[in-house]
Formats: sequence, structure tokens, C-alpha cells
Amino acid sequence: MILRNALLFLSRQAWLQRPLARSRVTRRLVARFIAGETLREALAVADKLYTEGILSTLDHLGEHVTSLAEAEASCEHSLDALKNLRNRATLSIKLTQFGLDISAEECLRLTSILADAARAADSQIEIDMESSAHTQATLDVVRHLHACYGNVRAVLQAYLYRTEADLESLCRAGIPVRLCKGAYHEPPEVAFPAKRAVDAHYRKLGAILLERGVRPAFATHDEEIIRDLTVRIGERGLTPSSVEFQMLYGIRRDLQRDLVRRGFPVRLYVPYGSAWYPYFMRRLAERPANLLFLLRALFQH
Ligand SMILES: Cc1cc2nc3c(=O)[nH]c(=O)nc-3n(C[C@H](O)[C@H](O)[C@H](O)COP(=O)(O)OP(=O)(O)OC[C@H]3O[C@@H](n4cnc5c(N)ncnc54)[C@H](O)[C@@H]3O)c2cc1C
Repeated sequence: MILRNALLFLSRQAWLQRPLARSRVTRRLVARFIAGETLREALAVADKLYTEGILSTLDHLGEHVTSLAEAEASCEHSLDALKNLRNRATLSIKLTQFGLDISAEECLRLTSILADAARAADSQIEIDMESSAHTQATLDVVRHLHACYGNVRAVLQAYLYRTEADLESLCRAGIPVRLCKGAYHEPPEVAFPAKRAVDAHYRKLGAILLERGVRPAFATHDEEIIRDLTVRIGERGLTPSSVEFQMLYGIRRDLQRDLVRRGFPVRLYVPYGSAWYPYFMRRLAERPANLLFLLRALFQH
């Protein structure tokens, strides 16, 4: 837990990207989780996954822009991506990349442009959930975009105490939800500190999402939870295609393939771009074995 929190703290020190990028070993590990630096590379990955029966959701890395000009640039880039997604991918966005911390109004304007373009392209926008400081503002934008365009999916994090109420409310509003465990460093006042409690909450919320959700999406690599969900889907007489399992690019390829083989839609979160540092550090924090691998390799070279 201490190591995890230390890594999550380091994930906010973006200046560390440059020294890390100099190492060949880091670059190799980064390549496991990141599809490349350009949209072209990400689309090539999405194409390849599609031939394997796997859908994608593309994420142009970068969060917390510090000017509205940067937010505009994110919007331009995403519009370009939307034109090229076709039916093999959706777009995942983080609202701080569109200026949420600077102006909620401007963020809503830019994301409305995106949702409109996604509708024209017959695609969907998935709105990632960031730290708890952004939860309410993010859900407010999601609700607005859903009411105007009807093509957004919200993300909820099982580690937050508030999530059950949010999930019930989004289900009532007919807003599709991607359920994940949560990847940020949160205080015990807002989130379950123990992993076991987060897992139990995920199971409880997963059952609610399955029962009342619209096109439920389960974002996890937790084999036991996935097994229990697939059993529950069978017991409820639902077809595999009524849900979606989502995983991160580069993690548990065995599980991805197994679900595809059994007829479940699988969508991979495919991140790309040069600002990979915070995303990469969150992946290390999730699994200390990744960090040990990195340290061992660094000392061997
Ligand atoms: C599609 C998708 C979208 C997501 N969107 C968000 C979001 O918007 N906001 C947010 O806060 N979080 C998001 N997450 C991250 C999520 O919250 C978790 O941090 C992450 O998925 C790990 O949790 P887990 O459910 O896989 O369970 P865990 O219990 O952490 O892991 C279960 C198993 O998965 C494997 N595994 C998990 N992580 C790794 C890793 N980094 N490297 C190697 N193996 C690993 C291991 O085998 C592990 O035993 C998303 C995750 C996915 C899959």
C-alpha cells in the first residue's frame, strides 16, 4: 500500500518523464502499455485488434491542461481522431484535458463539439473518471452531453463511497456506465482504503449495473470478478452481447482472448501520445511486479 501510494504520488511529478524516457528499458515497458506516440500508430493497433475480434477505445494521453489554447488543441486532435475511428473504436477523453480545471463552461463547449462530431460519425465518447475532486463536475458534463447528444458513456469508480448512489442515478437516467475499481490516490474520507473492500463493492455495483444498466461495461482484469459476472449473465438469461468487458491495452491478453472466444464483446483501452508519464505510473502502481521488473532491468543495464 505504501509503495502504491508513493507511485501514485510520483505519477503527479510529470518532470520525471524526461529522465525515465532516456532509458531503453523504460521505453520497452512503456511500449507494453502505450500504443505509440501518434494517432496513426494507435489506429494501426485498433485495426489489428479488430481483426482479432476486439474493439478499442482510443485515449490521447494528456491531462490537466493549463491553458484554454491547450484545451482547444486537444479538441482539434480528438476531432481528427473521431473522423478515423469507424466502427472499430470509440474515443475516451479526460475532461481536465478539455479545460475542466480552468473553465467548466469552456469544457462543456469543447466536449459538446466532440459529442456532436461523434454523433455524425456514428460513434461514442467515453468520459474517463479522474480524481474525486473532479467527480461531480465530470458527472454534470456527462448528464448534459447525454441529454443533448445521447452518445456518451460515464465511468464510475468502485473505490468511492458515493458510487452506489451515482450508479443508481445514472441507470435511472439511462446513461451507459463503464465500471472500474479506480486508479487515483484517494483519502479514506471518500474511498475504501482496503483493496478487499473495493473488490466487494465492485461486485455489489456490478450486480446493480447488470440488472439496471444500459449496455453495461465492466472494466476490470480481475479474473474472479469476471468469472462471477459471466455466470450471473448466464443465470439472468442475458446474451453475452448485451454487456461489454473492457481491459487495458497490454494487460491480460489471455483473458481478453478467452472472453472473445466465448462470444463476449471485448473493448481495449488504447492510450497513445507523448504525454505517457502519469498513465504509465498508474499502471506501475497497480502492480508492484511491474516496478520490480523495471528496477531489475535498469540495474542490469
Ligand atoms: C477499460 C478501462 C478503463 C478504465 N478507466 C478508468 C477511469 O476512467 N478512471 C479510473 O480511475 N480508472 C480507470 N481504469 C483503471 C482501473 O480503475 C484500475 O486501476 C485497473 O483496471 C486495475 O484494476 P482491476 O480491476 O484490473 O483489478 P486489480 O485487482 O487491480 O487487478 C486484477 C488483476 O489484473 C491484472 N492487472 C491489473 N492491473 C495491472 C497492471 N497495471 N499491470 C499488469 N497486470 C495488471 C493482474 O493480473 C491483477 O491480479 C480503467 C480500467 C480499464 C480496464
